[in-house]
Amino acid sequence: MIRRLPQSLINKIAAGEVIERPASVVKELMENAVDAGATRIDVTVQAGGMELIRVADNGSGIPAEELPLAVASHATSKLLDADALFRVATLGFRGEALASIGEVSRLTLRSRTADSPGGSQLEVHGGQVSEVSPCGCPVGTVLEVSNLFFNTPVRRKFLRSGPTELGHVAEAFTRIALPLPQVHFTLRHDERIMFDLSGTQGWLERIEKFFGREVAESLIWVDSGDGPIRLSGYVASPSQSRSNNRMQYLFLNRRFIRDRSLLHALGEAYRGLLMTGRCPIAFLSLDMPPDQVDVNVHPTKLEVRFQDSGRLYSQLLGTLRTKFLSTDLTAKATAPAASDPTGLHDETQATELRQQLVDWAKGEVAGWPGFGGTAGVSRGTGGTSNSSWPVAAASSGAPRRPLELNRLDRSWPAVDAKPGEDEDPFREPAGPTAGSNAPPPGGSFAQTPPVQAMQVHNRYLVAESDDGVMVIDQHALHERILYEQLRQRVEAGAVESQSLLVPEPVDLLPAEAAAALEHRELLAKLGMRVEPFGGGTVLIAAYPAMLSNMNPGEVLRGLLEQLVAGGKLPDRRDLLDELLHTVACKAAIKAGDRLSPEEISALLQQRHLVENTHHCPHGRPTALVFTREELDKQFKRL
Ligand code: ADP
Ligand code: MG
Repeated sequence: MIRRLPQSLINKIAAGEVIERPASVVKELMENAVDAGATRIDVTVQAGGMELIRVADNGSGIPAEELPLAVASHATSKLLDADALFRVATLGFRGEALASIGEVSRLTLRSRTADSPGGSQLEVHGGQVSEVSPCGCPVGTVLEVSNLFFNTPVRRKFLRSGPTELGHVAEAFTRIALPLPQVHFTLRHDERIMFDLSGTQGWLERIEKFFGREVAESLIWVDSGDGPIRLSGYVASPSQSRSNNRMQYLFLNRRFIRDRSLLHALGEAYRGLLMTGRCPIAFLSLDMPPDQVDVNVHPTKLEVRFQDSGRLYSQLLGTLRTKFLSTDLTAKATAPAASDPTGLHDETQATELRQQLVDWAKGEVAGWPGFGGTAGVSRGTGGTSNSSWPVAAASSGAPRRPLELNRLDRSWPAVDAKPGEDEDPFREPAGPTAGSNAPPPGGSFAQTPPVQAMQVHNRYLVAESDDGVMVIDQHALHERILYEQLRQRVEAGAVESQSLLVPEPVDLLPAEAAAALEHRELLAKLGMRVEPFGGGTVLIAAYPAMLSNMNPGEVLRGLLEQLVAGGKLPDRRDLLDELLHTVACKAAIKAGDRLSPEEISALLQQRHLVENTHHCPHGRPTALVFTREELDKQFKRL
């Protein structure tokens, strides 16, 4: 039986699309304040916005008699007729934000227009609208939202911790305040002022307030026009970059948007200027007549449709390329040490490393396997033993993200370097020997002498081979080993998956969310289980155990990059293979990771697994061999 839905249910459904979390409320309320022409907008949130959100502005205000309309659905002052939908010049136009918010919270609206002697107010609680009553208030509007999602427990349940929600709130705030430097914005959290951005003419000043001096100083101004379309803003010199694209802010007529094609153009412009895996930083503003773009294609208006997106792509790419050609990037790119992820250009660290090498060479040559030393059978214990490898074991105090040997032994149960010390609660108990000093089941260091090698520059391992010297790329080797392991497990349907007690919601672009759900089975084979949640959000219910120390959302996004590009790949098998590469690459130790002697040993012991394939999945070799004959020749012994 087909029935008409009651209005309140319609509103709840609409709310589900637009109001996902406190940050969505902040966004809608701030947009309204901007549309009302406010020059000052104060945002206050409590408990990440889960307890209270208040947005006060000094804009036009709402006449008392229109207050009920403001909170009614499909009521807006921003569209006069149907044509207006195709030349939207305001941030809002759908007329459903306040109605949606009022449906799922307690909302108080106080407002006063300039020509009214006093203010008036109205309350909405779970869709129930109160009478309008007079109140004292300054010209402008104050909106307060509390009890968010009190009547939609599913949504409420999936709210994250206060800090996480606050993070989203701050991002929403940034996206609105960034392109409007002339407006005074403040953001308070639990009575603490997070941002107080007084109005300024300069965009750079505002960018600096948000992202700091180092970024601001690296920025290069760009500007170009193509007919009525103007592109302007700042891009960072290659000395500044990020590992993700979250610092790529693109505004269309002051509205923050995400546009795959334009972000791609941005990446192309930096091709060759950044190391692979690094993303440029950009703050770009597009101004164009509103009738050349459709903003009514996405519920939260995050995506838009351009009339001529190909032309915009060329404009962006061309503008940046021309700019880069005429700018002395090297001057700006003399990298501050901190921006070098390997830390190799840090002079003090480099000196230290050199000193360690010299010390080691002086005293420890005898420790090399094959040099008659005993190190080959002893277990170096991170610097306490004389026979440990100083380069690998030295604790120089340099910050080093902990490199998890358990990442190694989780994927290779046979190599259990630290029996009983496994902190992973999800891992199966290691049997009766766990916790004791008895040798671990399977291969063990006590029985198999560890293979020794020296780590140089935190990225290569140098070891003796049967007929010469081997230089191994630690990342390439580990990646290759993991790839082989993982492929075998996928084929056997035995990938270890870690269930999450509370599924992790991940916000995605619509295309990504669709791809995630479409390829659910494929992802499950890799141990990544996703569930639909609505909108651009999916839930991660379980993810690959070997990636347990990585952010599940980022792992999923990494996989989705392949899936969204999936149309280009010939068949399912190749797609799976591509995903295996991605997982292996993400899970593998990186160039720049300093390894302990145990870790080096564990890595080398697994080498036989990939013995006959000398290339890492990306086609790079995992090891170079210098034969003794070659060396003899070079040293003129032959
Ligand atoms: P929309 O912004 O799409 O029009 P909303 O539900 O967000 O829809 O708001 C409904 C109407 O309420 C707006 O069109 C506007 O007339 C009025 N309004 C909401 N917030 C404010 C505000 N802060 N100042 C002035 N008017 C407002
Ligand atoms: Mg609005």
